[in-house]
Amino acid sequence: MDFELTEDQRLFAAAVRRFAEDQLKPGALARAHEPGFPFDVAQKAAAQGLLGITIPEAKGGLGGTLMDAVIAIQEVALACPRSADVVQAGNFGPIRTFAEYATDAQRARWLPDLLAGRSVISLGMSEPDAGSAATELKTTARPDGDHYVLDGSKVFGTNSAEAEVYLVYCRFGPGIGGIGSVLVERGTPGFTVGKPSRFLNGEEWCALYFEGCRVPKENLLLGPGGFKKQISAFNAERIGNAARSLAVGRYAFERAKEYAETRRQFGRPLCEFQGLQWKFADLALKLESAQLLLYRAAVRADRGLPSAYDTTLAKLACNQAGFDAANEAIQIMGGTGFSQEALVEYCMRRCRGWMIAGGSIEMMKNRLAEEVFGRRFPQRAEAPAARAAE
Ligand SMILES: Cc1cc2nc3c(=O)[nH]c(=O)nc-3n(C[C@H](O)[C@H](O)[C@H](O)COP(=O)(O)OP(=O)(O)OC[C@H]3O[C@@H](n4cnc5c(N)ncnc54)[C@H](O)[C@@H]3O)c2cc1C
Repeated sequence: MDFELTEDQRLFAAAVRRFAEDQLKPGALARAHEPGFPFDVAQKAAAQGLLGITIPEAKGGLGGTLMDAVIAIQEVALACPRSADVVQAGNFGPIRTFAEYATDAQRARWLPDLLAGRSVISLGMSEPDAGSAATELKTTARPDGDHYVLDGSKVFGTNSAEAEVYLVYCRFGPGIGGIGSVLVERGTPGFTVGKPSRFLNGEEWCALYFEGCRVPKENLLLGPGGFKKQISAFNAERIGNAARSLAVGRYAFERAKEYAETRRQFGRPLCEFQGLQWKFADLALKLESAQLLLYRAAVRADRGLPSAYDTTLAKLACNQAGFDAANEAIQIMGGTGFSQEALVEYCMRRCRGWMIAGGSIEMMKNRLAEEVFGRRFPQRAEAPAARAAE
């Protein structure tokens, strides 16, 4: 067991840090308050080799590791929290599922622009009546000649306001086995991107409507039975979500630390008050322990031992640690922390969202309880745990 980064990882981290300090730190505050996807940052990140790290070379990516992508997210977030979303979008979530399961023709069509930071892909999984219970999704895909005809709607998609292509989970038939996915391009007849709404974190999302939307059959990503593959890809997504939560929390922690060292009240720097010292001690413990769980999940996944248990633990710990750090940073920085002149309130709002996205805190705890007891606890009303155990 070795708790240190390797020499290559240290050099990579240092290179990303230099890039982020020089090119992303200036303008970080303004960027956080702009709702749109920062394509300028995406193009810089692409030039720096930070998009497609987790995608194998044979599939058009850079052939790096999840751990490399985690390092990239951390270093970028410490200079510019909003820019870490770009590294996430280029390495985790729908882009990774897409690159993994796409045909050569699909990859040739969309991946170059995605990896160059010229376009972005959005995941359409959640629906008005299917959130945590994702398998209750109702959007249907009916075969019709050379096309699938899509009917249904999606909500909450990250980058849904700007995406060029959407990875849409849909139902080809009943049950979990009937779920798969198709790729839908913006502008496809019968597909409408609704008016943007805003999350608390400032991000915009648009409802997606499919009304007799004809999607060519060559846009099929995963047919019926694809849901399990899609959900296992979510394991990696959770590592990205966890990495951002933790990194953004660390950013806030660092700003609060600087503030406590320089801000004076009652003739002393704030860091000399024990009431604040203990906040830093508690946060250091939360951040460091979450960091270990995150690295363990990433390293094991890179070694071919991806485990839902590891990623669930990491996501829970990082979501909570990141949020607590950002929330306490506001308190430590007083009116300055609560103001949009400092980025810590933004960090708190961002971390708050990741406690819901990508598997909520509660769903992660349900998953952990199943590991603890070594049995499934079905959540559906028609099959409660007590009856399942009979
Ligand atoms: C910032 C952000 C980004 C997102 N990005 C995307 C995206 O890119 N694509 C996409 O498709 N969706 C996205 N989502 C949607 C996200 O996946 C859902 O919000 C999430 O799955 C929860 O679903 P819901 O909002 O419908 O809440 P519900 O499922 O209605 O849950 C409401 C509350 O009940 C709790 N709950 C539900 N069931 C249980 C249970 N069995 N046990 C205990 N508690 C339970 C939940 O944890 C939650 O606290 C995003 C959401 C956010 C906030």
